[in-house]
Amino acid sequence: MQPLDLATLPTPVEAAPRLAEALGLKPGDLWVKRDDLLGLGGGGNKVRKLRHLCAEALERGAGALVTTGAAQSNHARLTAAAGARLGLEVELVLAGDSPAVATGNLLLDALFGARVVWAGDVRHEDLEQVAAERVAELTASGTPAYQVPYGGSSVTGARGYVEAGAEIIDQVPDVRNVVVALGSGGTAAGLVAALGAERVLAVDTGATADPLGRTARLVDDLGGVSDGIRLRRDLVGDGYSTLPEAVADALLLAARTEGIVLDPVYTGRALAGLAAAVHEGDVRPGETTVFVHTGGLPGLFGSAALAARLA
Ligand SMILES: *Cc1c(COP(=O)(O)O)cnc(C)c1O
Repeated sequence: MQPLDLATLPTPVEAAPRLAEALGLKPGDLWVKRDDLLGLGGGGNKVRKLRHLCAEALERGAGALVTTGAAQSNHARLTAAAGARLGLEVELVLAGDSPAVATGNLLLDALFGARVVWAGDVRHEDLEQVAAERVAELTASGTPAYQVPYGGSSVTGARGYVEAGAEIIDQVPDVRNVVVALGSGGTAAGLVAALGAERVLAVDTGATADPLGRTARLVDDLGGVSDGIRLRRDLVGDGYSTLPEAVADALLLAARTEGIVLDPVYTGRALAGLAAAVHEGDVRPGETTVFVHTGGLPGLFGSAALAARLA
């Protein structure tokens, strides 16, 4: 199945010499893969997955997309944008309750015309269940609906990051380390399938209970080798939606050395993970390292913790 033309590809890689030196690397070691510039709906890694997932949805005759996420889900926002681009209805089943004012990704969800169903304080599996019920109801009422998996992380979605891995090899042939945030696992899985486990350093954000198992299963299903996945779990802090000190420091460092905006949930954790890996000698000066900027900027405008830190 051909992926849809929803993205601006290939995304650029940019040198980051001042950030490299600040981290203790050599100035020429570090490259930033700008997947925050994928084009559709404010950009970010979910666009690559949605190219494949929406192709599958259209092939199945869908008239609506239904997906799940946290209130500040970048994946939900980009599903809303993809639906707008393709003329499909979009329904987002989000955890929590409707806030008084829609900020960040929620503001964009509304702008793209998506309907939001607030599921309250429920577990992740229950969100998927509510979404499955909505798919059945929409389909029964005459609009065939397609359920986009949590974070877009099915084998179909993860193929977008097998392609991204090939793009990175083209752009940075001597790449030794690829550093990426891990949420639902499809992004890291696709990169591992393309580049091998030894070259990918995944930094967990605390989005799921079993990040290693989820990612390994996806790598296996993609036909890759999942043994030896490098995963750091020490940047989760008190959870997905909290802002650990090291992550706040990483956000400030990227902004003040390179003028690059990271986000408090994903890319800030990924950079804090790279800093820790350099400190421990897992990533060394002289090794070519690609930091994958997976997007997330709207989430920054929904972060009260960061605003408090900068006040
Ligand atoms: C979803 C997301 C990730 C993590 O990708 P997964 O494939 O879910 O692991 C990383 N960065 C940003 C900005 C995201 O929105």
